[in-house]
Amino acid sequence: MRQVIPAAGGVGLLLRRGEQLRIIDPQGGQSGDLVAFSPDGRQRLSNGRTFDYGGKIYLSKGDVLWSDRSERMLTIVADDVGRHDFLYSPCSLEMYRIQYGATGYHANCYDNLCSEFRKLGIEAEPLPSAFNFFMNVDVRADGHLAFAPPPSRAGDSIVVRAEMDLAVAVSACPASTCNGGAPPRPLELEILGPPKASVGTLLSK
Ligand SMILES: [Zn+2]
Repeated sequence: MRQVIPAAGGVGLLLRRGEQLRIIDPQGGQSGDLVAFSPDGRQRLSNGRTFDYGGKIYLSKGDVLWSDRSERMLTIVADDVGRHDFLYSPCSLEMYRIQYGATGYHANCYDNLCSEFRKLGIEAEPLPSAFNFFMNVDVRADGHLAFAPPPSRAGDSIVVRAEMDLAVAVSACPASTCNGGAPPRPLELEILGPPKASVGTLLSK
C-alpha cells in the first residue's frame, strides 16, 4: 500500500533488515531527502563514509549507503532515475533566510526530518547530509555546483533495501531551486518485503 508524503512535508518509518523501500515521484520532477538512523539512534547515514567505500559521488543501482560507524545501511536495488545528490545538507529555515530572504516560517526538510525522527524516538539533531534522491547537481570542472531540474518522470521510482534495522525519514523538498522552479509536489512511499525467491532460499537451507 502506498503512503503519500504531502508536498513540502515528511514521513518517518521503521524498516526491518531485508525490507525494501520504494520512493515514487507521481508527477515527475520532484526531489526529496532521505536520512536513516539505527533504531537506537547511535548510527546515522554518512555521505563521507559512502564516498570512502564507493569511491564516487553519483550513486545508483548496486551502490551502498553507509553509516558513520561504517556499517551498510541501504543498498539501491532499482533506480528509474539514475541521478541523485549526496553532497547537500537538507534545506533549513536558516538556509531560506540567508539565501532567499525568507522572513516568516518556511517549510523545510530539516524540520520535517527532525520531527519525523522525534516521533520514532530519535533526537536527530544535528542532522547529517541527506541522500537527496532525484536531485540533479553537477560538479563542474572548476568545483562549482550547478542545479538542473530533477530528471524523474511521472511514476519513476528508486528502491532501497535495508541492510540493517533502520529508522528512516523522508521529506518532499519544498525548495523550488531543487525542483526545476516548480511549486512543491507530493511523493509516495511503499514498503516491499524481501523478494519471495530469497525468502524461499533461506527457508530451504
Ligand atoms: Zn529540502
